[in-house]
Amino acid sequence: MDTTRSRVKMPCPTNQRMASRPSRRSHPAGPASRRTGRSHTYRRQKRMKAIALILAALAGTASAADCGPDKLNTERTIILKREGAAYGALQHSALPLKKGEVVLTFDDGPSPENTPLVLKALSDQCAKATFFLVGQNITQNPELARREVSEGHSAGIHSDTHPNLGSLSPEQQLEDLKRSRAAYKAVFGVETPAYRFPFLAETPTMLEALKQANITVASIDMGINDWIPEDTTAILAQRLKDSLDKSGSGIILMHDANGPTAKALPTLLQVLKDKGYKVVHLEWQ
Ligand SMILES: [Zn+2]
Repeated sequence: MDTTRSRVKMPCPTNQRMASRPSRRSHPAGPASRRTGRSHTYRRQKRMKAIALILAALAGTASAADCGPDKLNTERTIILKREGAAYGALQHSALPLKKGEVVLTFDDGPSPENTPLVLKALSDQCAKATFFLVGQNITQNPELARREVSEGHSAGIHSDTHPNLGSLSPEQQLEDLKRSRAAYKAVFGVETPAYRFPFLAETPTMLEALKQANITVASIDMGINDWIPEDTTAILAQRLKDSLDKSGSGIILMHDANGPTAKALPTLLQVLKDKGYKVVHLEWQ
């Protein structure tokens, strides 16, 4: 299914250091100055909180005004348990979706060239998606990975180096998983809740390891075969229409690292809107 080659670069330790949280400094002075310090800190926190509330209110207003009925929007969110379940009717059970409901998923990023276009297209239509990130791309582009989540999308992992895991020894498979989980945790501060196999090529070793680690396996219901560089927007839109007509609902696989997909996404989202499809967003507990 997924034959896009990921852009994989060597991990950069500086980025990992940037991702680590600064430690809380203990107050160096005695009780009197500690009291003063505490009161100053309290006032500052209160001021910051007030500013944050105003900004949140302004953002809420803007978003409510922009996300009217002319937009695709996000119909509802399904919050999945952090457990070793597996979804996607191509290989596993289907998600509990109604006819006409789709989940948008994007693989192989983050890509500095293409992911920002995908984020803009999603934001313009108020649609939320799930990104399956390649570990080494996360390490190379930590800010872009964090931006995806800060804009309300969810993220899982898609291996560390995008190998066909079936061609690796069990030890190599587990090593790739370990590295990709570490890359995710270094940037997001939490364990990945979900995993999508490169090329959807599942192996017994990995399925068992993911189950043990309570990581959900995210397969797909349909795709648009978006890995050919010459694909035009019209071709991708037609493939999406054909897949929707065939499946009727489910998880759609696309690739945010793929240039033609990033370019076509405004049209693809319009196809969903015109055909009356509703976007369901996946989150994890
Ligand atoms: Zn992939």
